Amino acid sequence: MTAKRNLTENECLLLLKSVSDALAENRPEDAAPLIAENLRTAFGVTRVSIREIVPYPYSLLCAYEALGDAAEHRHISETAAFEEAVWQQALAAYEEGLVVYQAGGEQQLPPYMAVTTAAAVNIMQVPMFLGTYFRGVLELADFESPHDWSARERFTLKICADMLCRNLYSHTHFNPALHGGNENDIDPLTGLMGFRLFTKKLDETLAALEPNMPVCVIYTDIHHFKYINETYGYKKGDELLKQAAQVMSNAAPPNTLVSRVYADHFVSASAIATELIPSFDAFIHEQNKALGEILMEICPDVRIRVVTGICYVNSSDITGATAIANANLARKTAKSENIHKPVVFSESMMEAIKYQEYLNNELPKAIENHDLKVYYQPKINCTDDSLYGAEALVRWQRPDGTFVYPDQFIPVFEKNGYIIDVDFYVYREVFRYIRGRIDAGLPVFPISMNVSRVHFRTDKFIPYIDTLLEEYKIPPELIEFELTENIYMKNLGKADAFVKACRSRGIQVSMDDFGSGYSSLNLISTISIDTLKIDKIFLKNDTLSDNDKTVIESMIAMAKRLGMKVICEGVETEVQTVFLKRTQCDQIQGYYYARPMDEAHYNQFIEQHHS
Ligand code: C2E
Ligand code: CA
Ligand code: CA
Repeated sequence: MTAKRNLTENECLLLLKSVSDALAENRPEDAAPLIAENLRTAFGVTRVSIREIVPYPYSLLCAYEALGDAAEHRHISETAAFEEAVWQQALAAYEEGLVVYQAGGEQQLPPYMAVTTAAAVNIMQVPMFLGTYFRGVLELADFESPHDWSARERFTLKICADMLCRNLYSHTHFNPALHGGNENDIDPLTGLMGFRLFTKKLDETLAALEPNMPVCVIYTDIHHFKYINETYGYKKGDELLKQAAQVMSNAAPPNTLVSRVYADHFVSASAIATELIPSFDAFIHEQNKALGEILMEICPDVRIRVVTGICYVNSSDITGATAIANANLARKTAKSENIHKPVVFSESMMEAIKYQEYLNNELPKAIENHDLKVYYQPKINCTDDSLYGAEALVRWQRPDGTFVYPDQFIPVFEKNGYIIDVDFYVYREVFRYIRGRIDAGLPVFPISMNVSRVHFRTDKFIPYIDTLLEEYKIPPELIEFELTENIYMKNLGKADAFVKACRSRGIQVSMDDFGSGYSSLNLISTISIDTLKIDKIFLKNDTLSDNDKTVIESMIAMAKRLGMKVICEGVETEVQTVFLKRTQCDQIQGYYYARPMDEAHYNQFIEQHHS
């Protein structure tokens, strides 16, 4: 086993910047998983966990976790409690500083590390102290290769952990839901009942459900609370939370349970007579408006809005946890769809989630049965409207003939890693297709394929492409891979190595969705790609504003200076086409010329457009 490469100074700085950006742009609890993932990819380890101390009995509970593809390591988030003596030992070690364990050396796995991670090859634990209070550890565990942590990396991790700890613990009583060692806990900030106690009481209430008295579970959060915290400071934020808690308790019907889940997330549960339900939604809406106004007295410059999801429970089959999750799902719907009234949970929301699960279950079969279809969208040369080539786009054909589009399943499969199988399937289909045309003596054109970010977590991509090149003997210049701007930015080192590996094989690489995210104008001068693919958002208007034109023109000019080709995607109108041709854009892809089409139609298209 070879040890991992150490991060360079530049990489460490980039990492620190990504951590501080994540904390600046998100609520701490939302930033934490992002940071864990950033650390995981930067150091190439299997798992990064942010563990917090839970005092009764002592344990390091995993609050956030980022995992690599190694599925067998997925289940390790549970926690074992420390025995008192081991705990004292652990605390002494953490007070000393970073704790590292490397398998295979002289050192035995210390018992306190075995509590969180037994099977890793390499473990790095960075203790998090807030003042003198030990709050938890940031843990990087690698199950595959050793790592010789450099002084610079240790220093970087220490700063990351400090930033995380300060943000996670200073203002909110971070995830009290996880703390509930003591069921009689109250939330120290708001004085509301602890969340653990709440769920227990809710379970009891639901078990004793009376006919015609459904229980209404309400999940609420304060929109823009993060902004308030940042603008007015955490003290004001705390004041606001206390006030919100008070208003919610006072306004609630008698016997209502009210609790705070964490941060600005509150739950309540009240039994409501069935005939009152229609007016109850309206009542909650009015109450939310009133709450917003009261809170705005504390922070007068912010339009505070309270976002609420409701779940009515009239069956004892539903547990408290499910009811809370359902209400929370309804809240998320309200938030994402920008609905200003409370949203009531419905089965259709659940349907969406079930549908994703269904897709997950069906995928292996779909690949086996060739239900995934590769569509080709032509790319047209600007100079003479001739065919340049095509982009391969995947679709999933259901047995009833309907199609599922990639935007619906790719995000799901990126989460669980299935996307690798999907992409490899698409690549093989494309290679097979080109081989077929060569064998039939037909003209061939380059085809580009999309590369998911997930490939950067494994080392399978290049070997797989080598196998395909070998197997199908395709001239590499007919192959192009599209990497999104996002992938480049988030995996600079790996992306660079990837581009080099492709280009050394004669395969082309393009930067997809350029301008949609970081607008990393100076990045592209450092990375050597063949083609810049300007994102379709620049063409969202049928006609082009002067601003849009200037932006597109300067992107094209810059790419040209760097010796790259430029393609615009999402071109739908003649006005856009005329403009792009004038600006020296090389190729155009979009509905104006052609929609993505199946293999047979693409063959016909080639015949018609190939002179
Ligand atoms: P993308 O790479 O940006 O692909 C272009 C998307 O824009 C395609 O949607 C295409 O159908 C659509 N499009 C093309 N011309 C126009 C136009 O003139 N106007 C508009 N409004 N849209 C146009 P599609 O096929 O639904 O794919 C969506 C995304 O899914 C792709 O975005 C790509 O990120 C991803 N994707 C598709 N196939 C694959 C694949 O095999 N592997 C991976 N990893 N991702 C894929
Ligand atoms: Ca693409
Ligand atoms: Ca694109």
